[in-house]
Amino acid sequence: MHFENVDEAIAKGDSTLLHSRDGEACVRGCYRCLLSYFNQPDHEMIDRTSDEAKQMLIDLARGQLVLAVAPDVASEDGDWAAAFKAVGLPPPDTSTISISGHEMSFAWRSHFVAASVAPIDNAVRGDAEAKGWTLFDLSEVESGVPDALMSMFREMA
Ligand SMILES: [Zn+2]
Repeated sequence: MHFENVDEAIAKGDSTLLHSRDGEACVRGCYRCLLSYFNQPDHEMIDRTSDEAKQMLIDLARGQLVLAVAPDVASEDGDWAAAFKAVGLPPPDTSTISISGHEMSFAWRSHFVAASVAPIDNAVRGDAEAKGWTLFDLSEVESGVPDALMSMFREMA
């Protein structure tokens, strides 16, 4: 993204320490940094000078990996795993995911889809949607894998 002083900005956690490299022709983005054929639909929104985007990247660079202990797999979860398999869904990831403090029972990270056997409150759902995730609440499903869940995988296939 044509910035200098990256290591210091990361060390201090402060994106304002990033400085644009001298002599760069790039304004908001170019094909040498952020633009690509694949993100063409988003080109108008891309701005390498966005303070929010820069700080998010600095925060990400300072991230630490924390291994969480997977919750006990209840038999209910096991029934769901079998149901997913029976309708031809790809197997969920081997580790679950916590979204805004809600431990999702199942996650398909490659599809940004997760499902929970416990009710999901609206705040968690809102946070997840803002991050591009689609959540499914299995707690009130009478029987079978919801069509909407199955369709998430058909669209991506
Ligand atoms: Zn550029």
